Amino acid sequence: MLFEIVTIFPEFFGAAGVEANGTRESLGSGILGHGILERALRQGLAEVKTYDLRNFTHDRHRTVDDRPFGGGEGMVLKAQPLFECLETLQLQPKGQRGERERVVLLSAQGRRFTQAEARRLATFERVVLICGRYEGVDERVSQMLCDEELSIGDYVLSGGELGAAVVVDAVVRLLPGVLGHADSSRYESFGEGDEPAETMTADGVPRATHGSGGLLDYPHYTRPAEWNGMTIPEALGGGDHLVIRRWRRQAALAKTLANRPDLLQNADLSNDDREYLAELGWPPDAG
Ligand code: SAM
Repeated sequence: MLFEIVTIFPEFFGAAGVEANGTRESLGSGILGHGILERALRQGLAEVKTYDLRNFTHDRHRTVDDRPFGGGEGMVLKAQPLFECLETLQLQPKGQRGERERVVLLSAQGRRFTQAEARRLATFERVVLICGRYEGVDERVSQMLCDEELSIGDYVLSGGELGAAVVVDAVVRLLPGVLGHADSSRYESFGEGDEPAETMTADGVPRATHGSGGLLDYPHYTRPAEWNGMTIPEALGGGDHLVIRRWRRQAALAKTLANRPDLLQNADLSNDDREYLAELGWPPDAG
C-alpha cells in the first residue's frame, strides 16, 4: 500500500529520505522510523512518499499561502501548488478513482477518523494525504481533488502532519503481514471480532469471550504476579482458559462502561454480556 503525503514540512516524516523529483522516501529517524511502522516500511509491506508543496510554487519565495477572501485572521494554503502537485501524481479524476485510490484532506472539519475508518482505508492501494496549515486550505482543493475530509479528533491542530502520521500508523498495522499475529488487530480495542457474540467456540465458550466486538480491550498484566504489594487478578494466574476468557470479557465490558459507555450501544453483546452489564447498572434507565 502506498501513502503519498503532501506537506510543507516533509522533514516531519523522516530525515534520512532520498530526494528524487520532489519526492522523499520516508524511512528515516522521524515519526515513521520506529517499531512496527518502520519494520513494515522496511519490509515493503507499505510505502510512504512525501511531497514538498513548496516544490510546486513558481515564485522566488516559494509562496504556498495567501490572505483569505472576505478578510479575517491568518493565511490560507493556495489551490495552485496543490493542484499542480496532485497533477504530477497522475491520479484518476475525482469520481473515477474506484477501489484503488483515495485522496484525503486532513481537516478539523472532516468526518471523525476511527478504527472502522482505518479498516476502510486499508482496502485501498494508494492513499494521498493532504496536510493543511495556517487557517486551512482553499476550499476548491476539497471540492475538486479530495474524496473525503478526515479529522483525527475534536480539537484543532496547527497542521495536518500529525493527522497524516496517525492515519498512516493506524492503517499500516492493519495490513496483512504487519502484525506478528494476524488476529491481533481483531482482538484489540474497537476490533470487529470475527463472529457474533452469541456464537459458541468448539469448547462451548461464547465467542464473545474471545473477540472485542467493538469494546475496549481488557486490562493486561505481566510478571511478576505480585509487585509492590499489588497482585494480579486471581483468574489470570490459574491457567484455566475458560476462566481467563470470562474474566477478560467482563473486564473489557467494565472498562468500556467506565471510559466509553457510548461504545456499548453498537457493541456486539451476548446475553451473558448484557446480564453482566445490568449488574453494573447499564443501561442506566433499565427497569
Ligand atoms: N480554521 C480551521 C478550523 O477552525 O477548522 C483550523 C485550521 S488548522 C489551524 C490547520 C490545519 O491543521 C488544517 O487545515 C488541517 O489540515 C490540520 N488539522 C487541524 N486540526 C485537525 C484535526 N482535528 N484533524 C486533522 N487535521 C487537523
